[in-house]
Amino acid sequence: MPLVVQKFGGTSVGSIERIKNVAKKVKESVEEGNKVVVVSSAMAGETDKLLTLTREISSKPDPREQDMVVSTGEQVAIGLIAIALKEIGIDAVSLTGWQVPIYTDNAYTKARIKKINSKRILSELDKGKVVIVAGFQGISEDGDITTLGRGGSDTTAVALAAALDADVCEIYTDVTGVFTADPRIVENAKKIPVISYEEMMEMASLGSKVMQIRSVEFAAKYGVKIHVKSSFINEDGTWIVEENEEMEKVVVRGISHDLKESRITVVQVPDKPGIAAKIFKALGDRNIVVDMIVQNVSHEGYTDISFTVNKIDAEFAEEIAKEVAKEIGAKGVERNDRIAKISVVGLGMKTHAGTAGKMFEVLYREGINIYAISTSEIKISCLIDEKYAELAVRALHEAFIENTENIVTG
Ligand code: ADP
Ligand code: ASP
Ligand code: MG
Repeated sequence: MPLVVQKFGGTSVGSIERIKNVAKKVKESVEEGNKVVVVSSAMAGETDKLLTLTREISSKPDPREQDMVVSTGEQVAIGLIAIALKEIGIDAVSLTGWQVPIYTDNAYTKARIKKINSKRILSELDKGKVVIVAGFQGISEDGDITTLGRGGSDTTAVALAAALDADVCEIYTDVTGVFTADPRIVENAKKIPVISYEEMMEMASLGSKVMQIRSVEFAAKYGVKIHVKSSFINEDGTWIVEENEEMEKVVVRGISHDLKESRITVVQVPDKPGIAAKIFKALGDRNIVVDMIVQNVSHEGYTDISFTVNKIDAEFAEEIAKEVAKEIGAKGVERNDRIAKISVVGLGMKTHAGTAGKMFEVLYREGINIYAISTSEIKISCLIDEKYAELAVRALHEAFIENTENIVTG
């Protein structure tokens, strides 16, 4: 009997009507002859509401206790789905992360899954039940509840699909698949029928939040086939699969944008060996992940060093940079939270030149200044002012995707 993991995002379980709709979809899959494991997010807005409660008490809540609070959203959703399934004659059982159990490390608020014990799930499936698992949460080896970072239910679903050797992992969401750009910003964005793990990983890490990055990493590692589709419209979505030669014919697969980074500049740093090492070691020692780094040309023995970090870490990173600035005799530290990272992604860039030049030209034509650039084999990212983010995404989409030169034949 085929085994299917079906994950439903917050909007898909956002009301009682929608939970009943989820139950109907699960029932259809059971009636097609599948064993079904469901993973659910919290109802739309619930995680934000819970986070706000913690922030009303403390600006820096204890991470263990924060996880205790925010993990409850998913627990409500899975219980309601189980009740809805039983109402329509499908036997079901809901399980939290610790009941499965899904073991994680103890990095509260951004834990990583280490191991899944599938015994309980398999035995419930054998009893003919649909198993509904709470997304986004797990348990550390010390027995504490952890959460997997925003969007973490995707990772729960893919990790379960890998552990259970499922035939497919279906990600049901509020759009009909993965698009060439965020369809809420670019009206002409097109659904991508098939995308490689590598491209999806880049897009997810560059801000396309339709899939959490770690979920795609997991899928690539274990070869889990993912089908992203709509909870509301019954049509084929996007398949995320192993890359094939055909895929390299498309130069740019998609445009991503990310408003979740801040830029920090250490001003007038003495330009001598060992300074960059000091700054970035101090950040690394405190577990702060740095994304882009730019060092300006030196003027009279001084230079500026800029870097970007996730907004969540910006305040802390600024504090650390200020400490180091004092130590190394830099003039000061500036922080800008109003920046955006815009990226073009595509496997075809490996074999086709000219994408960077074209990207910079498009931004120049729109009068958009570039603060920093970073590249990999299959992506180019530019840091710009936040106020131009949507304009940049639309202009790049028009230039790269809506333009037929994007497909290379031969
Ligand atoms: P869920 O709650 O189902 O997990 P998310 O809100 O996390 O849903 O992800 C779906 C959203 O991702 C869409 O509503 C869309 O606005 C956004 N998104 C960003 N980039 C893309 C893209 N390239 N393709 C599809 N959706 C995208
Ligand atoms: N509920 C969590 C969040 O809002 C996890 C998820 O939806 O994937 O981030
Ligand atoms: Mg999501």
